[in-house]
Amino acid sequence: MKSIAIDGPAGAGKSTIAKRVAKELDFIYVDTGAMYRAMALYFLRQGIKAEEEDKISEACGDIQVSLAYENGEQQVLLNGENVNAFIRTEEVSMMTSDTSKYPKVREKLLDLQRNLAKAQNVIMDGRDIGTCVLPGADLKVYLTASSAERARRRYKEQVERGISCDLQQIEEDIIARDEQDMNREIAPLKKAEDAVVIDASDMTVEEVVAEMISLYQNT
Ligand code: C5P
Repeated sequence: MKSIAIDGPAGAGKSTIAKRVAKELDFIYVDTGAMYRAMALYFLRQGIKAEEEDKISEACGDIQVSLAYENGEQQVLLNGENVNAFIRTEEVSMMTSDTSKYPKVREKLLDLQRNLAKAQNVIMDGRDIGTCVLPGADLKVYLTASSAERARRRYKEQVERGISCDLQQIEEDIIARDEQDMNREIAPLKKAEDAVVIDASDMTVEEVVAEMISLYQNT
């Protein structure tokens, strides 16, 4: 099976790019952030606080995360419930970063992610795909952009979803989340040694997609 790993900070455009590349290459797109988000949603619904590691570790035993595809779009199921509509709020984003650092949470999703890549050709995005989940990926890309540009894109995305938000607050949240994701002990966000860096600050989606396809074709 073939696999492409895309890692990078929040809002760099990983999912937009990965979806397009998946379509072009006829690969399955796997958004691993959505899986961590589903778990965070569960903890929030249970009233568990981010710093309560014991309760979070225990709750992991009650959670079943799975994926389904509707019209080619990934849907994440939390104990059988499609929670796609609830996992993109800023509250869930921060809770996700606060809880994805715990070993039990990561353990829960690692096998699921690896098994998906064993069964089909995948393009998978996240924070630790090239370094930890798929170290043997055929192509690894570290996709980044300036925090101002990433905040602008995230803002636009939220407004399009009908969620009201504040640009400056989004940039602050993105910076805080990256800081936490890059500095955690387990599976921190970092460029894999053999990853190609793409800085998309001044690139269009089409340019990034073309660059990735060409990189893949030259592997
Ligand atoms: O990619 P997305 O912004 O949806 O990810 C949400 C959060 O999930 C990240 O900030 C990070 O804390 C966590 N995550 C992770 N490992 C991954 C994917 C996401 O820790 N592979």
